[in-house]
Amino acid sequence: MKTAVVEGSSVVDSGRVGLPEHGVIDAVEDLARSLLATWDAPSVGIGLAGLVRWPDGEFVWGPHVSGQAVPYRTRLESTLGVPVVVDNDANLAALGEATLGAATGRDPVLMLTFGTGIGCGIVVGGQVYHGVSFAGEVGHMILKPYGSPCACGRRGCWETLVSGWRLAEEGSAIVRRSPRGILAGITEDRVPTVPDLTAAAEAGDQEAVGALAEAGEWLGRGITNLVALLDPDVVVIGGGLIGAGDWLLDPAHDAVASTLSGAHVRAMIEIRPAEFGDLAGAVGAAVASRAYDGHYDR
Ligand SMILES: [Zn+2]
Repeated sequence: MKTAVVEGSSVVDSGRVGLPEHGVIDAVEDLARSLLATWDAPSVGIGLAGLVRWPDGEFVWGPHVSGQAVPYRTRLESTLGVPVVVDNDANLAALGEATLGAATGRDPVLMLTFGTGIGCGIVVGGQVYHGVSFAGEVGHMILKPYGSPCACGRRGCWETLVSGWRLAEEGSAIVRRSPRGILAGITEDRVPTVPDLTAAAEAGDQEAVGALAEAGEWLGRGITNLVALLDPDVVVIGGGLIGAGDWLLDPAHDAVASTLSGAHVRAMIEIRPAEFGDLAGAVGAAVASRAYDGHYDR
C-alpha cells in the first residue's frame, strides 16, 4: 500500500507498507487513521486494484477480494469521520498525473499503466471519466481474436499481448530456444523479467530485441484504438514495463504512426512517461478526495 499526503500542489509526505493477505480493509483503515492523527487532513481518498463501483466506493472485484462486494466508502466514512472517496487505482493514477504530474494543464488525458496487467484512466475536464461505473477496463479489449487465454477467461485481450507476464513467457521461450544465449546467461535459472530482457537487448540479444519490439507494437496498436475513440491531448504511460524504454516505445510509436487513421492531418500523439511512478495512484486519491471538501483546486 502506498500513501501520499498532498497539500496545495505538493506531495508533503509519502510512504509504503506491505499489504496483508487478509483483512485489507482493516489495514487500510488503520493506515488512514494513523495518517489523520499526524496530518490535519479534511478528507481521505483510497485507490483499489480492481473494479470499484463509482460513486458508491464499493469494491466489487479484484485480486484481493473474492465473493462479496466490500463497501469501503460507507464503512470508512463512518469509522474515520471524514469524507472518503474510493476509486479504481488506475483512474486515480491518471488524475494524479493530470493534476500534478506529467500531464498537468493537458486535457483530455489518457493514462495507461503496464505492469502485471494494464490499468487505464481517462481524465476529461479535470475529472475522471467513469462511464456508468467501470470505464477504462482496456486491458480486456480483444486485440487478437482466438489469441492466448487471459485471466478473465477470454482470449486475445490486450494484456495477453503486452504485460509483465507475457514478456516473462516470451523470455522463458527465448531461454528454451537459446540456452547458451545472452538472455539465458543473464537469468540463469530465474524466469526472465522485463529488466532482464532489456539488459539482453542492450547486450545485442536479437531475440530479446524482437520480443520487446513485438510487445511494443501491440502496445502501439492498443493506443491507436484508444486514440481513435478519445483523441487525448497526451497519453501518459507508467508501470514496470516502461523500464524497457525505447526498445518498447519506439515500436509503439511506429505502430501508432502507421495505424492511426488520419495520422497525416493530426499532430503526432504525444506519449510521455509518468512522473509519480508507483505513487501516482496515491497522489490521485488525495487529489480526488479534495473534490468533496470544497478545497478542490487544479
Ligand atoms: Zn481478458
